[in-house]
Amino acid sequence: MQFNMLRLRLLNSIAPAYFFTATVVTIILHFCFFIPTIFDRSPATLLHIILFLFLVVNALGNYTMTICYPAESAQGVVTPVCAPDCPDRVDAHYLFNGRHFCKLCKKVILRRDHHCFFTGNCIGNRNMRYFIMFCIYTSGTCLYSLVLGVAYLTVEYSLSFENPLTFLTLLPLSIGYFFLGAIPGLQFFLVLMLYVWLGIGLTCAGFCCQQILLVARGQTWCQMRKGQVVQTRNSWRSNLSDVFGRRWLLGFVVPLQTAELTQDETADKRD
Ligand SMILES: [Zn+2]
Repeated sequence: MQFNMLRLRLLNSIAPAYFFTATVVTIILHFCFFIPTIFDRSPATLLHIILFLFLVVNALGNYTMTICYPAESAQGVVTPVCAPDCPDRVDAHYLFNGRHFCKLCKKVILRRDHHCFFTGNCIGNRNMRYFIMFCIYTSGTCLYSLVLGVAYLTVEYSLSFENPLTFLTLLPLSIGYFFLGAIPGLQFFLVLMLYVWLGIGLTCAGFCCQQILLVARGQTWCQMRKGQVVQTRNSWRSNLSDVFGRRWLLGFVVPLQTAELTQDETADKRD
């Protein structure tokens, strides 16, 4: 148990560094290699720069908002008391009052969904909307980078991606060719990045779909894991509106605070 906790703490420190490194590398590749080579100062260049910046700014903006507006912690709970069915998971305790104590954040989190290692924060009542937007835009950035990365490898190194099985053989072949000195380091690095973008892009897209479904049902990941069915009279529209706020459309375009907890909502912090 102690070793598992140490592993999670290590992951909590490494994952944000990995996210920032991957973001900086992606930005450099776009501006120094992909856009100048693929579009070669054509009229489409500006359009692609705007699209890429829109995706990255929203991904980073919502990442920052997830951290700046953390899930609230319950006041006055000094010694958390575990519920009888608390499995004492590595990352959290289930408490008597249905709330969850995060061992990494060392707090009782209101409406805790899960602990996100990339942001080093719990996702809960206040930052769920930013977390979902972060997943949407990170997925968009990765999949867009994947498309431009494939285009760059085709233009610059004459690699063919016509065969759908190319992605199965590309990585092992590239590793072999690189260590034999048959391909340059940049080509090998770009092939590795294609798999990083594909992996992060698909994971974020899947995660985002799951979170939206949970939010629409008024359920959290923690409740789902416990097999707890939430009886809610609210419609899926009102559940989504509770999380995304009334100005949700604006939040899709710019990473802004789209809803504030009102007095009534503050008094009714559901868990
Ligand atoms: Zn946490």
